[in-house]
Amino acid sequence: MTSVPTLEDLGDLTGKRVLCRVDFNVPLRTSADGTREIADDLRIRAALPTLRYLQQAGATVVACSHLGRPKGQVVAELNMDPVRARLEELLPGIEVLDNLRFNPGETGNDPAFVAELIGGIDAYVNDAFGASHRSHASIVGPPQHVPSAAGRLLEKEVEVLGGMRERTKKPFIAVLGGSKVSDKLGVIEALLKRCDKLIVGGGMCFTFLAAQGNQVGASLLEEDMIDTCRDLLERADGRIIVPHDLTAMGPGGKIGDPSAGGEVRQAGTSLPEGWMGLDIGPGTAAEFSDHILDARTVFWNGPMGVFEDPRFAAGTRTVAQAMADSRAFTVVGGGDSAAAVAEFGMAADFDHISTGGGASLELLEEGDLPGLEALRNSAH
Ligand code: ADP
Ligand code: MG
Repeated sequence: MTSVPTLEDLGDLTGKRVLCRVDFNVPLRTSADGTREIADDLRIRAALPTLRYLQQAGATVVACSHLGRPKGQVVAELNMDPVRARLEELLPGIEVLDNLRFNPGETGNDPAFVAELIGGIDAYVNDAFGASHRSHASIVGPPQHVPSAAGRLLEKEVEVLGGMRERTKKPFIAVLGGSKVSDKLGVIEALLKRCDKLIVGGGMCFTFLAAQGNQVGASLLEEDMIDTCRDLLERADGRIIVPHDLTAMGPGGKIGDPSAGGEVRQAGTSLPEGWMGLDIGPGTAAEFSDHILDARTVFWNGPMGVFEDPRFAAGTRTVAQAMADSRAFTVVGGGDSAAAVAEFGMAADFDHISTGGGASLELLEEGDLPGLEALRNSAH
């Protein structure tokens, strides 16, 4: 079982100075008067239980995070001021370090930067699940020097996603979509070992459909993955389920711009030249929903279609609704799938929405992450 030390394991924190690696990588926008502001403070609010625990335990808390991609340089627009201000409103008295990625030592895991981070620090907490698959300084460095533990968010992620590898109620159905097979090959392999059925939609279904001999028109296709998909279909022996109908857009159409023209039509699995499959069809959405309603555990990663365009959101919405209605234990991992669930207003109907896209897939695949390993091996 993947396990990590938790906040309680840090013991008495009275008067201690605790460094807490959080995920304050919030979406920013520029307001009318030109100042940077936070478009959505969900990630800041999500960190509060851990920060509050540390404060109430008598610690002085220093929070640190990356924000955007400044690539090792100071980028004024990516400073932490808006985050600092919002946190001060929500939970006063927490120090927030500058954007970790202003320093090239963060992604480079430079010991000198680690030394800087832990100067004057007595204990370390990691609550940044979404960064825990990276061997960055703020993730793997401090645990080598000071007693360390997982915060509440990280603890929950490890419990749920670690549990998916080890003890899942059957039938266990995995639903995969999104853009590319190649991105998700590892997780497909890992899930096939455990799930009863693996449902495939989204852009990646076309490489599977092509492997079955279908014409996929102008749909997203990874030609160099066709053989791999054929092999997966054979090995899965009927457990991989692909769409039997599609919603497609004809030549001249533009994603995200209905006024550009281009016909949108329901189709089977073979598309004429120039047509692009952009969503699973209604029959497939209904079939996928039936599988989901029969399940006792569902893991979902990757939208079923280009849900950002309302013309191609129906498949993702139908499948999400089936999960919301299902009595199964339902878990969503993946940035875009989680955004879809939030947009549909169904977040409260899911059992767990992972805060880490890449990290959740890697944890399912590997059973461990560099950041978790570091906590387990931390100094005492
Ligand atoms: P997640 O972030 O949930 O892991 P991905 O990043 O793998 O998901 O994929 C999300 C993207 O896949 C979305 O932007 C969506 O528009 C795109 N997508 C879904 N279906 C298709 C399709 N049929 N053709 C092209 N892109 C697709
Ligand atoms: Mg994504």
